[in-house]
Amino acid sequence: MSFQVEGKVAVVTGGSSGIGLAAVEILVAEGAKVAWCGRDQVRLDNSKQYILEKFPSAQIYTQNCNVLDKHDVQQFAQTVHRELGNVDMLINNAGQGRVSSFEDTQDEDWMKEIELKYFSVLHPVRAFLDDLKRSEIGSITNVNSLLALQPEPHMIATSSARAALLNLTHSLAHEFNQFKVRVNSILLGMVESAQWKRRYANRSDQEQSWEEWTANIAKKRGIPMQRLGKPEEPARALVFLASPLASYTTGSTIDVSGGFNKHL
Ligand code: NDP
Repeated sequence: MSFQVEGKVAVVTGGSSGIGLAAVEILVAEGAKVAWCGRDQVRLDNSKQYILEKFPSAQIYTQNCNVLDKHDVQQFAQTVHRELGNVDMLINNAGQGRVSSFEDTQDEDWMKEIELKYFSVLHPVRAFLDDLKRSEIGSITNVNSLLALQPEPHMIATSSARAALLNLTHSLAHEFNQFKVRVNSILLGMVESAQWKRRYANRSDQEQSWEEWTANIAKKRGIPMQRLGKPEEPARALVFLASPLASYTTGSTIDVSGGFNKHL
């Protein structure tokens, strides 16, 4: 069964690498028209080239855009509409986590983390909402973390901001029911990505392979599946929730953590 997104228009924020790029690839492979953004122009150009090499006739649009800059996001939304048509699916993926305990987290750090987790969603939602309301399959899908339900002391600010995002996602789902726009999220555990590649580059034992190093992390953290996730694994869940296949699902989450969740 296909995701039923052929000819539909999707936007993925932070689509230039990792989970976002994997979602872009699935959507393009399924025949959707896809726009994505990121801040680093080289990464953005490389991701565009990667997609066009695999799918030469893909209908895509990329733009340098910081999701925390409201005007940037509004301009991105206007151009996507002009270039690809009315947007049907918004995937809010841009962001990163912050590793720090209470004692290591200054007030400015809290403000930055709260701004990132709220406004990386609020700005795109505001900018694309009119399009989504006009769509027959309008959906918003937020990338969130299992930290929302299972906080970690070494990521205190990210955990608490993630809980707020989960709450916000539910509120939006209820409010946007009147517009027939569904709102859902995925809760991630640990997924191979640029963040992990950077940590791998700085590993203490330079002899360790990527597979050994990631398996070791999974073992230490007690991930039942004994490995980190691959970007395409959460990406498939994202595209499912964004697509009409999830037409009776809103205000909901899919856990993509390799069984790391401990709550019922
Ligand atoms: P990557 O670093 O590979 O990808 C992040 C993407 O977001 C990049 O395209 C990046 O491009 C973009 N981005 C970051 N900040 C902004 C911004 N302000 N405006 C626009 N684009 C931005 O990481 P992942 O694929 O792992 O992360 C995807 C999402 O999943 C993030 O929100 C992350 O916090 C979340 N997550 C990831 C986990 C993991 O284990 N990988 C665990 C829990 C949550 P650029 O830097 O050029 O702007």
